[in-house]
Order: sequence, then C-alpha cells, then structure tokens
Amino acid sequence: MKRRLSQQQVRRFHRLLSVRMTDFDCGKLCAPGNKGVPICCDCERVVPVLFRAEWKWLRKQGKLWKRMPVKTKVDRKMVKKVVDYSLYCVCKGPAACRRGQRAIVCRTFPFEPFVDGNGSVRGLVFQSQKRKKCPLVTYPRSAFNDRYVRNAVRFWQELIDAIPEERELYMRESRKHKRRAARKGRPLRMLTASP
Ligand code: SF4
Ligand code: SF4
Repeated sequence: MKRRLSQQQVRRFHRLLSVRMTDFDCGKLCAPGNKGVPICCDCERVVPVLFRAEWKWLRKQGKLWKRMPVKTKVDRKMVKKVVDYSLYCVCKGPAACRRGQRAIVCRTFPFEPFVDGNGSVRGLVFQSQKRKKCPLVTYPRSAFNDRYVRNAVRFWQELIDAIPEERELYMRESRKHKRRAARKGRPLRMLTASP
C-alpha cells in the first residue's frame, strides 16, 4: 500500500479545486433525467476512485465517505485492478454531500488533462464518456469559470509531476483524444485558461 501524495498535497489540491467549475448548479441539468440523482454522483453508474492519501485526509474531515464494500466476485476483481495508490470508495449520496468533503474525482469530472509529449498539461478535455453522459460536454467555453480552468490545469500538472504513473496514463489518453479528433476530422476541443 503506497500513499504517493502527502497530506499537504491533498489539502492543496482540494483548495485549488474548491473554485466553482460553473456559475450554475449543473446537477440540475442531469438529475431530473436520472431519478433525481446527478449522473456523476450515481453509484449505480460509477464507483469513485480516491487516492489513498486523499482517503486518509477525507476521513479526518467527516463521515461522508467509506471504502467500497467488497461483496461479490466482480467487486473483488475490480478492487484488484485498481492502482496501489488509489482505492474505490462510496459516499453517502447527494443528500448528505458536503462541498468541502467532495473528492478530487467529484471536483474534476467531466474533465481530464490534455498532456503533451513533454509531460506538460496544455488544458482540459472532456473525458470520453461511455457510461456517464454529462450534459456539460455540449456547453461553450464561456460556461466554465476561468479561475476553475486555471486551477485545474495547475492541479493536474502538480499531480502528474508527483505520480509518474498518472503522467503516463494521461499522456496515453491525450494521444487517444488527438487520434479520435483526427478520425472525426474535427479539432480537439480543449479548454485553456484565458490569458
Ligand atoms: S458534472 Fe455533468 S454529470 Fe455531473 S452533475 Fe454536472 S452536469 Fe451532471
Ligand atoms: S461526494 Fe458529493 S459530489 Fe461527490 S459523488 Fe458524493 S454526492 Fe456527488
């Protein structure tokens, strides 16, 4: 079991990502069509992955999170596959949610970083979505707060600088994003902070 991040790093990441992504409550866009639950908070669709160091930090902040109960063969298989510095967790759901206790995964969805061949984060791209359909993907750049984009880019850069496996992962994913855009004959949609 490895904790690649320090408690100070987790605290800093949460602070950087405490800025609102949009000026409106985007949960109101998707919850009505998903039995009243925002799609990215729906544990039927997705089980959040937390960094081990973040899990340690969040446990000190309150009781919103617990480790995912492992009940079935599928659960066991899933848990085995997760990288050693992360783990699957579940929260108590939107009714009990505390803004300050949201995990990094809650604060970054639906984005991931676009990382160039030198390991520099160039901006934010929308995660490719097979199971989670986030309506924000259709929103224009102006819907997203500059400060959020700036802080998120900073966060991702610091994260991939701290954890080489994350850098490799996102460099790989970024190449896929580029290929996908080229295949569709469209420019890659990437959010960068306004100067
Ligand atoms: S990020 Fe997307 S899926 Fe999550 S609450 Fe907002 S609109 Fe819904
Ligand atoms: S902590 Fe809050 S934002 Fe994150 S998944 Fe749970 S309900 Fe959603």
